[in-house]
Amino acid sequence: MAPSRRSKTSARARLKTYRARRDFSLTSEPAPEVPAPRGAGGPLFVVHKHDATRLHYDLRLEIDGVLVSWAIPKGPSYDPADKRLAVQTGDHPLAYATFEGRIPDGAYGAGDSLLWEEGTFDTVPPGHASEQRARGRLHVVLRGHKLEGGWHLIRTSPMGKKAQWLCFKAKDGTERPGYDVTGEHPESVKSGQRATRGPARRTRRTAAPRAPAKPVRASRPSRAKGSARTPEALLGEVWPPMLATLAQVEATAGAGWRFEVKYAAASPCGRAMGMISPRASPPSSRFDDLIQLATSLRRHLEALGLTSVPKTSGKRGLHVLVPLAPGHTYARAGAFAHKAFEALAAEHPRLATVERSKERRGGRLYLDAGQNAWGKTVVAPYSLRALPHAPVSTPLAWSEVTPKLNPTRFTLDNVRRRLDEVGDLFAPALAGGQTLPSV
Ligand code: MN
Repeated sequence: MAPSRRSKTSARARLKTYRARRDFSLTSEPAPEVPAPRGAGGPLFVVHKHDATRLHYDLRLEIDGVLVSWAIPKGPSYDPADKRLAVQTGDHPLAYATFEGRIPDGAYGAGDSLLWEEGTFDTVPPGHASEQRARGRLHVVLRGHKLEGGWHLIRTSPMGKKAQWLCFKAKDGTERPGYDVTGEHPESVKSGQRATRGPARRTRRTAAPRAPAKPVRASRPSRAKGSARTPEALLGEVWPPMLATLAQVEATAGAGWRFEVKYAAASPCGRAMGMISPRASPPSSRFDDLIQLATSLRRHLEALGLTSVPKTSGKRGLHVLVPLAPGHTYARAGAFAHKAFEALAAEHPRLATVERSKERRGGRLYLDAGQNAWGKTVVAPYSLRALPHAPVSTPLAWSEVTPKLNPTRFTLDNVRRRLDEVGDLFAPALAGGQTLPSV
C-alpha cells in the first residue's frame, strides 16, 4: 500500500522518538533522513534478530511511511497454536529495512542486530495496513525468504507505550506446526552471519528523552550511577527481561508513574534463571524456616560456583534467582532445580520436602522444582502486587536474608527511596553468563 500524503507528512513526527534515542555519530543505524529503499511489489517487511539485553526478533512492517515495529521475544512461529507475545516498539525509518550491524555498547539497543528476514507483505484484504493497525487487528501475508503466508497480529492491551500484541500464524495452508523457523534458520539474509553477540556489559542506557512522569523524589540525588530511576527506566532495564516475558503493563489511572507490571512465562532461548519459591506464602511462623532454606540454597549454589540473587515475592515468599547464560533448556534448568531441591530437603528433612502429595508433606514447606518450567509464571523484580499497601517484589542483598527480614515492608511508597539508597540489587542478575553443572 502506498503511504498516503497525509501519513507521509506525519512520518517525520512519528520518528521523533527514534531520532531522540540515538546518537547517529555513534551508531551505524540510519538517521531518519537516509533515503529509503523502494520495495518492488508491495510494502516492505523485515525482521531483525536483535541480541540486546535479551535476544529478540523485531518485526517491522512498512505502514504509513515508517516501519511500525514489534519486539517478539521468541520470534515468529509457523504453528497457529503458538501465540507469541509481540510488544510494540517505536516506529523506525524505512531505511532501517536494510540495516544490519552492531549497535555500540552504551547506545540505545546495544548489541548485534542481524537482518534475519526481508520481503514484502500485504494485508487481507489488501491495502488495509494502516487501518488494521489502528484497530489493533492486523492480518498480513508475508512474502519473505523464511516467512511465507498469513500471520495475525492482535493487540491485547490498550494503546500507548509498549502496547502488547499477540502474533500467530494464520490457518491458511501455509502453517507448519512443529517447524522451528528461528532454530532452522538462524542466519542473516544479508550476510549469512549466524552468531550474535549481546551488549558487552550493562552500560548506562540513555533514558528515553520524553519527559518521564514526575518522579516522586526528583530532588533526591540518586546514587545509582546517575541513571533515571523512574519505573519507566527500570522497566527498560528489566524488559526484555532475563527470562520472563512481559505479559501486561497497565498504568494505573492518574497515578503518574505507578505501574502494575506482570510478567509471565519463561523462555529457554534468552538468559534464564532458576528460582526457588514456596508454593504458597508461608505463615509467619514458617518464615524463619524459609530463611533457613534460602540460606542453605545459597550455600549449595555457591559450592557449585553459582551466584544467586534473592528477592521478595512481594508477599511472604522469597525467590532465589540464578542468572544463566543463554542456551540452557527448561529440561536442564528443571533437572538442576530438582537435584538442588532434593539436596536441600535431605539437609532439612524436618523443614522441607519435595513430596508432591499434600498428605505426605506433613506440614513441611514444599520445594517445587516444577515451577522451573515452560508456562509457569514468575513475579518479576520490582513488580507491584495487588495487595494492601502495594508491596513490591524487591531484590535483596543476601545479608538482608535473615529472620529479621520483613518481606512485606517494601512497598510502592518506599521502594524508590530504597533504590536511591542501595541501588539496583538486581543488576548483578542481569549480568547473566553462568552455566549450570550437568546433573
Ligand atoms: Mn530490538
